[in-house]
Amino acid sequence: MSFIPHAPSYYADSANPTPDRPFLHGDVSTDICIIGAGYTGLSAGLHLAEAGFKVVILDQARVGWGASGRNGGQIVHSYSRDIDVIEHSYGKEQARPLAEMMFEGAQIIRERVAKYQIQCDFKNGGVFAAFTKKKVRALEEQKALWEKWGNKDLTLIDDKNEIRKIVNTDLYQGILIDKSGGHFHPLNLALGEAAAFEQNGGVIYENSAVTRIDRGANPVVHTALGHVKAKFVIVACNAYIGDLEPKLANMSMPCGTQVITTEPLGRLADEIMPADYCVEDNNFLLDYYRLSGDKRLIFGGGVIYGARDPAHIESILRPNMCKVFPQLKNAKIDYGWTGNFLLTLSRMPEVGKLSDNIYYSQGCSGHGITFTHLIGRLLSEAIRGQAERFSAFERLPHYPFPGGRLFRVPLTAMGAAWYDLRDRLGV
Ligand SMILES: Cc1cc2nc3c(=O)[nH]c(=O)nc-3n(C[C@H](O)[C@H](O)[C@H](O)COP(=O)(O)OP(=O)(O)OC[C@H]3O[C@@H](n4cnc5c(N)ncnc54)[C@H](O)[C@@H]3O)c2cc1C
Repeated sequence: MSFIPHAPSYYADSANPTPDRPFLHGDVSTDICIIGAGYTGLSAGLHLAEAGFKVVILDQARVGWGASGRNGGQIVHSYSRDIDVIEHSYGKEQARPLAEMMFEGAQIIRERVAKYQIQCDFKNGGVFAAFTKKKVRALEEQKALWEKWGNKDLTLIDDKNEIRKIVNTDLYQGILIDKSGGHFHPLNLALGEAAAFEQNGGVIYENSAVTRIDRGANPVVHTALGHVKAKFVIVACNAYIGDLEPKLANMSMPCGTQVITTEPLGRLADEIMPADYCVEDNNFLLDYYRLSGDKRLIFGGGVIYGARDPAHIESILRPNMCKVFPQLKNAKIDYGWTGNFLLTLSRMPEVGKLSDNIYYSQGCSGHGITFTHLIGRLLSEAIRGQAERFSAFERLPHYPFPGGRLFRVPLTAMGAAWYDLRDRLGV
C-alpha cells in the first residue's frame, strides 16, 4: 500500500485539521459509489447523502488531492465558453437552460460554507481585468450578457485612478467588478465538504485507487484490496483519470497550470489589493491572483498542454507577477506548485453516462469551481429520477482532439500560441 500525501503547497501547509481516512479493504455494498474526492465527487456525494442515500467515495490519494485542493480559489460564473458562444455553437434552445444555471454553482458554494460553517477564508468580490481597449469592449459585452441572465452585481471601471483603488497597478485599461464572485482557500473548502458529507452518513476511503469498473445491473468498483458493489457509480476523476476509462481519457487532454505564493506581505498586501477581490485578466492565456487569509499574494497562470511538471515554477510566473505589481520585486516566493485541469476541444464540460447506471462529469477546461458544484447537484437530481437539467449538459457534443493522444499536445499548443501572440500584440 502506498500512502499519497497532498502535493506540497501553501494550501497543504495551511490546511485545517482533517482525519486520515482508511483505505478500502474487503467488500462493501452501497447505493452510490463515487470515484474521486474532488469538488465533483464531494458535491455530488453531499447532495446525495443529504437526500438520504448511502454513498461511498473512493480516492486514489486524499480528499482534495487533485485540482480541487490546488487551484486559484476564484469563483467565476458561467462556463469556459460563455453563453453567447454556446448560443452561436449549439443554438438558443440548447443554450437557454445552461444560461439559467450559470450562477447556481456559486450559490451552492455559499450555501454550503454557511450551512456547515466551513472555515475557508471565504471573501466576496471578483474582478476581470483588460489590458487593451479592445479587451475592455469584451468586458462590456460580458457585463451585458451576464446582466441579461440576472447578475446585477457588475460594475465596469475604465478610469485608471478608480482602477487603482481596487487593484493597484497601471497595467489595465478597464476592469469589471463582480461582487457576486469571490475567493477562498480551495483545499479547506474540499476538506469542509468532506466533513459535511461524513456528518450526513457518507463514507470516504482514501489511498484507494480504482483499477476497474464492472458494468451490470449492480456495477462493481475494484481497488487493489477491496470492492464496492453499488446501484450507481459516478466517475469524477477529471484530469487524473489515467487509464481507468480510456473512452473518457481519449476525449480530453490533461493540462498543467502553476501557482506561486509570496511570503506574507503585511501592509503591502492592502496597498496592492485594496479591495481584497480576486482578479483574472481576460487574455487567452490568463493570469489570476488574490490575497490569502494571511495576506500573501497567490498568483497563477501558464498552461502546459499534456501536463508535464515544470522544473522552475517561480521563474515562469514571477516576471508576470512583477509586471502587474512592480512593488513586489523584492518579495520572497514561499511556495510554487502545479496542478492539472482537463481541457476539452469545445472547452465545454463533458457529462454523460458510460452505461445506464454509470455517470461521469469531467473537463471544465480550467474553469471548474462553480461548474463542479453545479454538476454535483445535477448528478444527484439525475440519480433521483429528475434528469432534465443533467440532460441539458449531456446533450452537448463531445469531440475527440485532432491528432489523437500522440499529436493533440503539439496541435493544441500551436493553436494556443496563435491566440497568445494576438494578445501580446494587442490585436
Ligand atoms: C492550478 C489550478 C488552478 C485553478 N484555478 C481555478 C480557479 O481559480 N477557478 C476555477 O473555476 N477553476 C480553477 N481550476 C479548475 C478547478 O480546480 C477544477 O475544474 C476542479 O477542481 C475539478 O474538480 P474535480 O473534482 O472534477 O477534479 P479533481 O479535483 O482533480 O479531483 C479528481 C480526483 O479523482 C481522483 N482519482 C483519479 N483517478 C482515480 C482512481 N482511479 N481511483 C480513485 N480516485 C481517482 C484524484 O485523486 C482526485 O482527487 C484550477 C485548476 C488548477 C489545476
